[in-house]
Amino acid sequence: MNALAATNRNFRHAARILGLDSKLEKSLLIPFREIKVECTIPKDDGTLASYVGFRVQHDNARGPMKGGIRYHPEVDPDEVNALAQLMTWKTAVANIPYGGAKGGIGCSPRDLSMSELERLTRVFTQKIHDLIGIHTDVPAPDMGTNAQTMAWILDEYSKFHGHSPAVVTGKPIDLGGSLGREAATGRGVVFATEALLAEYGKSIPEMRFVIQGFGNVGSWAAKLIHERGGKVVAVSDITGAVKNPNGLDIPDLVKHIDGRGRLKDFQGGDAMDMNELLVHDCDVLIPCALGGVLNRENAADVKAKFIVEAANHPTDPDADEILSKKGVIILPDIYANSGGVTVSYFEWVQNIQGFLWEEEKVNNELQRYMTRAFRDIKGMCKTHECNLRMGAFTLGVNRVARATLLRGWEA
Ligand code: NAD
Repeated sequence: MNALAATNRNFRHAARILGLDSKLEKSLLIPFREIKVECTIPKDDGTLASYVGFRVQHDNARGPMKGGIRYHPEVDPDEVNALAQLMTWKTAVANIPYGGAKGGIGCSPRDLSMSELERLTRVFTQKIHDLIGIHTDVPAPDMGTNAQTMAWILDEYSKFHGHSPAVVTGKPIDLGGSLGREAATGRGVVFATEALLAEYGKSIPEMRFVIQGFGNVGSWAAKLIHERGGKVVAVSDITGAVKNPNGLDIPDLVKHIDGRGRLKDFQGGDAMDMNELLVHDCDVLIPCALGGVLNRENAADVKAKFIVEAANHPTDPDADEILSKKGVIILPDIYANSGGVTVSYFEWVQNIQGFLWEEEKVNNELQRYMTRAFRDIKGMCKTHECNLRMGAFTLGVNRVARATLLRGWEA
């Protein structure tokens, strides 16, 4: 099942639990606007190349639409649609005043030079600048884009609209980025994990963790779990996987990777099969890489008691069913990885205020938002006698439905 079908299925299930009116249900599912533009740029060799850019703005009932822009050869309009919709529910779960959006350009960023990437980003911004904005739609980095990409968007947008740092988040600190933004998703994952474990009378130091993916989210989650005394017994990235039953020395592993070493060559553990990692013996499994990695082929063999979905939609609906039957507790993506968009919100607030928060304040506020959202999700689980995924979906969908009704959508 593709990402859009899976997201729609979860939404419809939540709408049924909430008893939403069928017309409202239908209108919440339909995106507000889908933008498709051709971005033609001169390449460094003098030839012309054209790339298709997308921006799906799903819903703005609760505030400006918010979501990342990815550069990837397989940017697929259906997936962008699903991710835009997920952002609507995610911002509502986090209770930040935003709607949802997502975008991307079908290109292979590794095959483009810095100046080609800059030209492409500027042309894309020229094509969509009238449709994004501080109070309309606020992009952020995603796969294949970074703080530099946001700096170019900010600069190009500001040529049309005046200096506008709040038009994007995930910017470099020198251009109004927030302290703590880089670590925010991984830190949020750890706050979410703490809230979940506390519910079962457990804590990080007594748990063994397996982490798939050692990029921004995975490495920060691993570092913070290690700092808190948790044992990370296996990690993987695109190059391979490494395990140590006594716990990997994460600061050493980070040093090894920063020194351009390959993860699987790390001397502080034994190399292992990447596919085996997801079914490796542990208490908590944290997928921090791709979507759909837990599926009907491997779900029955998962040994973890808890899964914290740091990646977007890592568990496909078949796996969800198999894992639920096995009694595995899954903390869903629309809550577990919401730390990034929450600190993006803090960045936007700081830009609008023209004021820079201390990192400690950012981290403390993030913890407060993550803990509050967990409590709200548990409230929905209790009211509707449902699992955490449906607790999160009903919470998000209900908040957006209420805002939509209060605005008077039938007029
Ligand atoms: P990243 O590009 O920094 O890291 C991705 C990591 O996954 C890399 O270490 C890569 O080597 C690894 N990887 C890729 N394919 C793999 C495979 N087959 N097996 C094992 N590892 C593999 O990306 P990121 O920003 O850390 O994002 C990771 C996930 O978290 C994505 O699903 C993303 O959508 C989601 N997410 C990220 C943020 C954020 O703020 N960065 C926010 C919300 C959700």
